[in-house]
Amino acid sequence: MIPITVYKDKNVALFGLGITGLSAAGALKVGGANVVVWDENQSRCETASDAGFDVVDLNEADWSQFDALLLSPGVPLTHPEPHWTVKKAQAADVPIIGDTELFFEEFLHRGERDRVLVITGTNGKSTTTALTTHILKEAGETAVMGGNIGLGVLDMPDFAASESEDGKIYVLELSSYQIDLTPSLCPTAAGLLNISPDHIDRHGTVENYANVKAKIFANLEKENLAVISFDDFYCQQIALNLSTKSEVLFVSSTPSIENGVVIEESGFSIVKDTEVVRQVDLRSAPHLRGKHNMQNAAFAVLLALKVSGDFEGLLKGLISFPGLDHRMQQVATLTRSSEAQNLERRLLFVNDSKATNAEASEQALKSFNEIYWIAGGVAKEGGINGLASHMKGVRHACLIGEAAKEFSKTLDEVGVPYDVCVDMERAVKKAVEVALGNAASGTDTTGTGSEAAILLSPAAASFDQYPNFEIRGDAFKDIVRSIDGVSMGETLV
Ligand code: ADP
Repeated sequence: MIPITVYKDKNVALFGLGITGLSAAGALKVGGANVVVWDENQSRCETASDAGFDVVDLNEADWSQFDALLLSPGVPLTHPEPHWTVKKAQAADVPIIGDTELFFEEFLHRGERDRVLVITGTNGKSTTTALTTHILKEAGETAVMGGNIGLGVLDMPDFAASESEDGKIYVLELSSYQIDLTPSLCPTAAGLLNISPDHIDRHGTVENYANVKAKIFANLEKENLAVISFDDFYCQQIALNLSTKSEVLFVSSTPSIENGVVIEESGFSIVKDTEVVRQVDLRSAPHLRGKHNMQNAAFAVLLALKVSGDFEGLLKGLISFPGLDHRMQQVATLTRSSEAQNLERRLLFVNDSKATNAEASEQALKSFNEIYWIAGGVAKEGGINGLASHMKGVRHACLIGEAAKEFSKTLDEVGVPYDVCVDMERAVKKAVEVALGNAASGTDTTGTGSEAAILLSPAAASFDQYPNFEIRGDAFKDIVRSIDGVSMGETLV
């Protein structure tokens, strides 16, 4: 835990007693603040009271006494409308902050701001955060990830309190909600991966959402680094209007950038003053497939280079990255020889259970040439219509769950063969059978005949058959494990 001493003897009102709220209350209390906590859920108040926190109904409180309102990131700040605690805080001129703000205020107070990397974006945050942390560790650094992934920011270890002086780095994944509550955000280096319309319910308009994302660059100084994508409209707007004193590097798939990284199909080039200074080939990185992962890898390397000088060590880490559970993660392989064609057939089992909507599945469908696709669950609006133009590699679909009927209509329109398999076990078995059958009967038209993906990328929510996407992904892995002859890979949990 990181004790927050910067609020010592100050009065803090805290609303929202989930994991983040309780952890912030603990960090403040240990640091000597007077914290009162509240939640509209009675049982959460009881839990907090049992843990020794001062539970006070904030409806009845005298707000003029508070130095800050600490809000859980899930509580609406602006849209659909400000939460009542927000209105009370604003009326009493009380600053509204989140746990990440405490983290940065504490490090500013201690005079330490030199080892924090922050990553945000609409998609790829978790992958890039885990990847950055992994490559730093491979390069011999001590790094820990937190925020929206892994540990809550204040639950991370307090490196300052540890004995060793070696490089220690915090890698933070931040959502727009967290950024909105962190006015003092001042990392060593900040990366903005991409922006597409998302969370409009919480931010009102996509412009507001983009403005919040852009705040990760607001406090950067000369010695800091901003890394920003130049591939989508909103990031381009932010990049063009960026007024920062810091160094700025771009990540783009167009080769015309001056400084940063140009991403390619299975690698990237580092560019300095328009010259390519290094090319990185990621064809041998099993868990970094697809152009979107080249983007993630480029961000990870540029951010990590800001705090580590071991370039070769960082690159080694890209190859050894074990993937992030349930995100296009290669969990196993199965190799079969086909005597009929004298071919070796290699099936990759890929768990992309996190893809709970069509947009998320798009990346996976674009990442493999020959796909046996397991999809379905509870469909989101529009189903898989938006994927029609990305099904070139799909040889067969195995549909599960409630969405089967709706998805089958789209597949009929596109002309992709499918089976309604109902449950995961039948779907996996069917996909393997068809994949091996295709190779043996010579219907494989890839020209290589060698490698195919058995891809769970449901493009739908899980809750008709599983409580969440993690349990759905684990079920897939268990079924794969039971297949004769499969070789399971290592995974990062
Ligand atoms: P987040 O933490 O932002 O939700 P994840 O790293 O968990 O993102 O990835 C979720 C899904 O988003 C992946 O399964 C993949 O389909 C897609 N994705 C990952 N990286 C990117 C990227 N750089 N650009 C676009 N989509 C991506």
